[in-house]
Amino acid sequence: MSINTKQVKKNAYRITKTRGKTALRIRVPGGHLEVKHFDIIKKVADEYGNGTVHITTRQGFELPDIDFDKIPEVNKMIRPILEGLELAIGVDISDLESGYCAAGTRNVSACIGNRVCQFANFDTTDLAKRIEKEIYPNDYHVKIAVTGCPNDCIKAHIQDFGIIGLTEPQYAQERCISCGACVKNCKKRVTNALNFENYSVKRDADRCIGCGECILKCPTGALTRSREKYFRLVIMGRTGKKNPRIARAFLEWVDEETIIKVIKNCYEHYIEKYIDRTLPKEHVGYIVDRTGYDLFKKEVLRDITLDTKVKVARYIDFGGYMYDRNTMFTRGYN
Ligand code: SF4
Ligand code: SF4
Ligand code: SF4
Repeated sequence: MSINTKQVKKNAYRITKTRGKTALRIRVPGGHLEVKHFDIIKKVADEYGNGTVHITTRQGFELPDIDFDKIPEVNKMIRPILEGLELAIGVDISDLESGYCAAGTRNVSACIGNRVCQFANFDTTDLAKRIEKEIYPNDYHVKIAVTGCPNDCIKAHIQDFGIIGLTEPQYAQERCISCGACVKNCKKRVTNALNFENYSVKRDADRCIGCGECILKCPTGALTRSREKYFRLVIMGRTGKKNPRIARAFLEWVDEETIIKVIKNCYEHYIEKYIDRTLPKEHVGYIVDRTGYDLFKKEVLRDITLDTKVKVARYIDFGGYMYDRNTMFTRGYN
C-alpha cells in the first residue's frame, strides 16, 4: 500500500515506527470534554487500534496501532468528536468525515482554571476554545496554552504564546481588620508588593504580578478580584533539538480581545510574510530569531490600540541554550 505521508500527517495521523500502522491524534481544546466522547475513543482503540490510548502532553489522545487503510473508516467514526469538540465551538471544518484537518497548529491546552481551582483568575478552557476557533485549522507550527494564574500549571512558559491570567486586587479599606495576612503572604510567597501605611494596605503596582494570592488570604473580603480580567502574554518558549528556551513576557495587563488580535496578526501578517518557505515547516520561534523581536512586535501589534495600562517589553533576550557540544561540554572535569 502506498502512503501519502504528507496527507497522513496533515490529517493528524502519525507516521509510526511500525510499518503499515499509524496513530490517530484527537485534540481536546482547553483540555476539557464531555465523557460521552470516551465511548468513541474506546471503540476506535478497541476495533482499530491495540486497545490502548496515550494521553498526550497537549491534552489530547493518541490511539496507536491503526492500519493505514482503515483511516477512512476511523474518520467516519470520529465525526461526532469533531462535531462536539470543534464544530460546537465555532471551528469551521468543511468535511467532517475526513478526520482532523491540520496538525500544524497544536491543540490549545489549558490548566483546569476557575471551574475548579481557587487560584484561577478566569475560565481557562473558555478562552482556549475561543482561541481554537480563531486559529484552527491551520498548518503553521504554533503552540498556545492558557493558564489561570502565575503558578502556570499548564507550563505556558514553553509555548509560543503562553497566556497567564491576572487580577488587579481591589481593596475596600472599611472591611480591613489590619490582620496582615495579605502582606505577610505576598512577602513570603510572591513579590512583596504589599505593605501597611497608617493601618491601611498599600499595593505597589510595579511589583504586583496579579496572582490574586492576597485575595484568597483575606478573611473579611476587603480584598477582591477585579471585575476586569487581565493577562500576561509570554512568547516563544519552546523545547526542541536546536535551542530550547523559556518564554519571555511580551505584554502585561492586557485584555482578552487584544490577545486574540495579537495571535491572529501573528498568523496573518507575521508568519504568512516571513516564514521560510524552503523548509517543510518552520516553527514560529525560529522566524522570530531570524527577523528579530522589533519586526515581530510591529506586525503583531498592527491596528491595535493598547490600553495605557498595558506594558510592552522594550526588548527581549530570548536566550535559552544551544545544543552545541563544542561550546557546552567538555569531557571529564577539564
Ligand atoms: S495555574 Fe493557577 S489556576 Fe491553573 S491550575 Fe494552577 S494554580 Fe490553578
Ligand atoms: S496579587 Fe499577588 S503579587 Fe499582587 S499584591 Fe496580591 S499577592 Fe502580591
Ligand atoms: S488580609 Fe484583608 S483584612 Fe487582613 S490586612 Fe489584608 S486586606 Fe486587611
